[in-house]
Amino acid sequence: SSLPAQAATETPVGHSRPIPAVLGTDLEVPVKGGRLVTYANLDYAASAPCLEPVSAAVTAALPAYSSVHRGAGYASQLTTARYEQARHTVRAFVGARPDDAVIFTRNTTDATNLLARCLPEGTTAVVFDTEHHASLLPWKRSVRLAPPAFPGAAVRAADEALAAIDGPKLLVVTAASNVTGELWPIAALAHIAHRHGARILVDAAQLVPHRRLNLTALDLDYVAFSGHKLYAPFGAGVLVGRRDWLSAGEPYLKGGGAVRAVAADVEEGIDWHDDAEPRHEAGTPNVLGAIALAAACDALSATGWTELVREEERLIARLRSGLATIEGVRELSLWGPDQPRVGIVSFVVDRHSAREVAEVLSGEYGIGVRDGKFCAHPFVRHLLGTADGGCEDDTASAVRASIGIGTTEEHVDRLVDALRDLAAR
Ligand code: PLP
Repeated sequence: SSLPAQAATETPVGHSRPIPAVLGTDLEVPVKGGRLVTYANLDYAASAPCLEPVSAAVTAALPAYSSVHRGAGYASQLTTARYEQARHTVRAFVGARPDDAVIFTRNTTDATNLLARCLPEGTTAVVFDTEHHASLLPWKRSVRLAPPAFPGAAVRAADEALAAIDGPKLLVVTAASNVTGELWPIAALAHIAHRHGARILVDAAQLVPHRRLNLTALDLDYVAFSGHKLYAPFGAGVLVGRRDWLSAGEPYLKGGGAVRAVAADVEEGIDWHDDAEPRHEAGTPNVLGAIALAAACDALSATGWTELVREEERLIARLRSGLATIEGVRELSLWGPDQPRVGIVSFVVDRHSAREVAEVLSGEYGIGVRDGKFCAHPFVRHLLGTADGGCEDDTASAVRASIGIGTTEEHVDRLVDALRDLAAR
């Protein structure tokens, strides 16, 4: 038998398939009083459930796998082909340039840290305080910018900060906020970065599950995202972008696969790969994670974004307008209610801590949401106006509901009804 054909799951442009199903939609969970209710998963921004085509792709890969890039055996060749096909799929999914590197990582955090290690000596990162910790913390040297009052102010602040920096510089920005869901002006920010000779890294962890991303059209230098937020199970993420820094940077992990040769006396010579992918992917990679991630990319592309976005916008509008009718519930946003956003909404409920709200929603209504500061402590404090709230201070926390493929009107209405009851207690 032959090795797998390229992109067997790809659909020709212009033909879109129905929105695929996710696993676990019939999960029943116990609530107060011993009743069982179907689980309303409204926590997609943390980790999205697995798409059926993703599960099928992983199952299909299980019967014959072996090491990648090493063996002559059939299973090894097959696994190598599948792994490299996954890379190809990711490249197409984000619209990367032909010479961009596509490096598989563990997740977005791993990807931003990998890039941080590869920055040319003396690089200054310019980072907004609205970032997720994965994009806020890895930089050795950084300039931090306060949350901007409107999208144009973000561009202006970046412009001023970049103009004041000598030497190599990197602008870091999240495309869609994991706290408010708001979309950032990444094309304008890329333009400004390049005008100052800087590069831009876009944290697309919350964008790619909801919107098409085209790195080339937006002129982005790097993007990072995670499979587990893209309807693929845990363990794989990617860093995609310009090859030169990545090929020159210190190998992220040191070990087999990252070297072309090691001298008999190790001290005498290690010949590291200067190809970015092998250089940073030492050890046996997470092949199944890469296959899952790529299958999710294929499934979303095949569905077509128009339909996905339309359905998500319908449901998030229903949720937000429902929340707006409840006295005592306040939605958090940086740029106001009309700013375009993905299917994420964070809010607070008067007189009830975020933890209490999340526990009541789970224990009484079978609804899963997230509470806390969502690994974006400075930003959530800013939104809550609690500059001094400690990390463990529950009063300085919010509740986050997030939706995606598999979310139904019933889930949304159950949340709104539950919050109406709770807010009146
Ligand atoms: N960036 C954003 C915007 C996120 O929402 C997350 C997830 O929480 C991350 C980065 C980190 O992703 P991961 O935990 O998969 O590394």
